Parts: sequence; C-alpha cells; structure tokens
Amino acid sequence: MRVSEGDVDVEAPDPRDGSSEGAGDAVFFNPEMELNRDLTVAVLRAYESRVDGSANVGAESPADRTLSYLDAMTATGVRAARAAEAGYDVTAADVDPEAVELARENLALNDLPGEAVESDANVLMHSERFDVVDLDPFGTPMPFADAAVAGTRKLLCVTATDTAPLCGAHFDSGVRTYDTVPRNTDFHREMGLRVLIGALSRVAARRDVAVEPICSHATRHYARTYLELTHKATAADKALQWLGFVHHCEDCLYREHEFGRIAHPPEDCPNCGSARSSTAGPIWLGPIVDREFVDAVADEVTPNMGEWKRVSRLLDTLAVELDTPTHYDQHRLCKQWGAPANKLETFLDDLRDAGYEASPAHYGGTCFKTDADVSEIREAAEPAAASDRE
Ligand SMILES: [Zn+2]
Repeated sequence: MRVSEGDVDVEAPDPRDGSSEGAGDAVFFNPEMELNRDLTVAVLRAYESRVDGSANVGAESPADRTLSYLDAMTATGVRAARAAEAGYDVTAADVDPEAVELARENLALNDLPGEAVESDANVLMHSERFDVVDLDPFGTPMPFADAAVAGTRKLLCVTATDTAPLCGAHFDSGVRTYDTVPRNTDFHREMGLRVLIGALSRVAARRDVAVEPICSHATRHYARTYLELTHKATAADKALQWLGFVHHCEDCLYREHEFGRIAHPPEDCPNCGSARSSTAGPIWLGPIVDREFVDAVADEVTPNMGEWKRVSRLLDTLAVELDTPTHYDQHRLCKQWGAPANKLETFLDDLRDAGYEASPAHYGGTCFKTDADVSEIREAAEPAAASDRE
C-alpha cells in the first residue's frame, strides 16, 4: 500500500495482508508511530539550527554543515526518507535484506538522496560515527545502547516500546533490562521515561559521555527521548548527578526524591505513617526537556504533518511542564479524598493562589505537576463536595 506522511510517499506492506500467513515476516510499518515521526522531523529541523548556531559555524560551505543521520532499524525507511526530506545526509540500515530493498525504493520514489545498507545495527554503530542516530527497535533499545553511544557524535534519539518492564509492571524484566528498580506507581508513564533515560545515562557514562535530554515524552505505547551527547568525562560525571531515587507511599500517594547512588528510604510514610512505602531507582531525576529547544521544535511543526495538532499540543505542554521528577493524577487524588473532580485548570489555579508552582503534565489529560506535597495539595485545591457549595 502507498502511505503519505509529511512530504514523502512510501510503499509499505499492508498490515491487514499479513493476518493469514507470515505476518511476522513482513517488513513492519506502524501507523501509530506517525506522531513520533512527525515530532522527529520537527526535532531534526530545530536541531540543525541549534548546531548551526553553535559549534559548527566554522564549516566552510553549507554542504559541510549537512548533518549525518542513521536510521538504525529502518524497516520501510519512512523515518529515514522524512529525515532526508528535512535535509539530513541519511543512512537507512536494517538487518533484513527485504527492508533494505524497500527503504532504497522508498528513497528513490521520493527522489531523495541517501544510502540504504544491510547491516546489524550494533556492527554498524561500532564501526562508523553519525551526527544523529535514531534507535527505533521492537521493545527495548538497551541491547543497542552501548553501540549507539559509540556511534553518535551529537544527538541520540531513542524509542522504547516495552512499557511494562519500564514502569515496573513486569518487575523482573525491568530490573534485568534497565539495571535499576522500577516501581509500578500511579505516575507509571513518567517512571518508565525516567528509568529509560537513567539507564541510557549510565551506559553513556561508561564511555565518558554525558547525556542531556533536550526533548522527551511518554505515551501509552512508548517512551521517546532525544539525548544531546557531550563526549567528555567531567561532563559525564556531572550528568550522573541527576540520578537518584523516588520514595513513594502506596496508601496516600505521598512521594519524595533524593539524589545520589545510595538510597535512604523512610521507614514509614512521613505523611500518613503507612509502612507501604516503596523505593524506585536509580532513575533520572533531572529535566527531560530543554524548554528553549522545545519552543524551537514547536516552530518547526507544519500543517502538512498528519499529527501536527497533537504534536503541537504535546510541545505546548512540554514547554510549561515543571521539572519535578513525578506527577500526580488529579482524578486519582480526588477519588482518594472522596471529592468530586473539578476542571484541572481551576485545580491548578487554586494551587497557584496558595503560593505553589503548578503545571499540567503531558502524561495524560488529568495529570499535573506541583512543588506541593499531597497534604498541601489537598489543603489548597480539594474541590468542595456539591452539598458544601453555596
Ligand atoms: Zn502515606
């Protein structure tokens, strides 16, 4: 079937054709990842300006300034084609020869320059370096993380679709894969994203490389982060200081965090005295975006993108979301209190009127962030029961 995304057309196997036989063999095309790819294009456009405006101004001609981009598991090549359309010098790699052929055809179909190569991603990333590397594997990216750090000069883009291990719902798999203790909390999507960034920061540090997440988001299906790399040991030391632990009460939803590599969990919940407190970590506790960069990305979202409205909404939220390492779900809190949920905007205004910082959070429509703790949130913003209203 022919699929149009952004300014490119690609041939992709129709997922419905694979239902009877060989479904697992067909080159994979996931239409649900269109938002992910739209955002990638906007990030790549904004990143070109970011690099142009800083380190690479010394390049002698515009051609020298073209950044190289590796789509390490390219499948149909749709992401690679869109990166080429955005002006990148593209390599589309896949271990499956059918995928490589399809990616090559799809680049040609759009008259786009670029190379399609048959290679195992790890082999390629250990033998060549690219300015930007994009990892979009089935499930966890961790088996490719070390090679990806080795093969990336500037920007490492990573998708993880194994949300259950990431957020602690599949605990043993999460521990094994991400070398941390993930916990299944009421802020599970954020847990997953911070487990992922934390694990990648540790892998990078082994190679004296620092990561800085300049754009990141998590949805029901996956977590995605764009990490700007600095190849310098002292920078790596500094980046690791963003690692730490979250202590979380399963009864009253109180949580606190601490930086460092040694956890000091409270014996009982400081808020309600419950012994049902759990600790997650080490995870990434630092910022997940660079707000100025997010604004620049938002300027690169164009109406020819199929998901431009959702991408714009996501970026608008990321631009104002507080940096606190956990968020709350307003409906969950109201249910806990036996109070009717009011409009999130009203709820956040009540918190701000009481002197706290408050923002929506992109993890869901009822999610928010604040520097108030659970009892302070209740004091400031618990909606009155209908019978209490005048
Ligand atoms: Zn508690």
